[in-house]
Amino acid sequence: MLSYQHGYHAGNAADIHKHLTLIAVIKRLQAKESAIHYFDTHAGKGHYDLTDAQAQKTGEFTAGVARMVPLRDTLIPNSVWAEFFAALDSANAEETNRGQLINAKQLRFYPGSPGWVSRLRRAQDRHTVFELHPAEHDVLSTYGEQQTGRVVYGDGLQGVLKLLPPKTPRLLVLIDPAYENKTEYDDVAAAAIKVLQRCRHAVVLIWYPLLPAAKHEALLEQIRTEVALPVLQSEFHYQANTGERGMYGAGMLIVNPPWQLENNIAELMQPILPEYGEAAKLAQSWLVAE
Ligand code: SAM
Repeated sequence: MLSYQHGYHAGNAADIHKHLTLIAVIKRLQAKESAIHYFDTHAGKGHYDLTDAQAQKTGEFTAGVARMVPLRDTLIPNSVWAEFFAALDSANAEETNRGQLINAKQLRFYPGSPGWVSRLRRAQDRHTVFELHPAEHDVLSTYGEQQTGRVVYGDGLQGVLKLLPPKTPRLLVLIDPAYENKTEYDDVAAAAIKVLQRCRHAVVLIWYPLLPAAKHEALLEQIRTEVALPVLQSEFHYQANTGERGMYGAGMLIVNPPWQLENNIAELMQPILPEYGEAAKLAQSWLVAE
């Protein structure tokens, strides 16, 4: 029984790091014309209303996307941030009477990963997203393929394997679970390893939370020992790890990253670190050497 719903967390600090990394990778891959199939194993609802009861209950977006909006002028010289704000403007067009730049008061809608990828997807690309939670899947299905990619109801870790290799010459696989049950860290590692056994050239992005219990270490260890391909590890620590309950940051593993992606992510994240205080940092290293 799944209970996690991303509406409580959409647009939070971890989402900013995750979605910027995703956009940066896609933009780099799109420097070449050849087609890409984007797979999103854990899609969520696709698009989020930050005024709804879930988002308002936690208010997590106030320390994420709402904190970014006033920084627009500083951030948009970077093309990934420019894409980020263009997507926000577009998602919130109704709130700003169309065509205007969103401000923090008007901010209402935040795209989920199917939304971010749909904006960037080109005519030659393919896009398949999986969602297992019946209610989340129902909402996701209402938007139509143009805004979400092709939606599949079911387990994304098993589902993606059934569709490999894709017909396109290249593929990107985003694995972004909620880690609700104990086996999920192992399940994610096992699935990523199988994806890479079938498609060594796959660019695989794996999101994980940074929690005091450090359960993500098991995932890192399996990837480190079983993946003989370059793996970049990018972690956003948005607060100190005091050992108390709750996340203090989040990480992304990027298998087969585009060249110098670590520099791209650093350029994106360094300007926002001061917003999170002295303990905030971006920690990047090679989990498996280039
Ligand atoms: N990727 C989304 C984004 O960036 O906007 C957020 C995804 S959220 C962290 C995780 C989602 O995975 C939840 O909606 C949950 O219902 C769904 N989920 C959990 N287990 C799943 C599975 N085995 N296969 C597909 N979806 C699953």
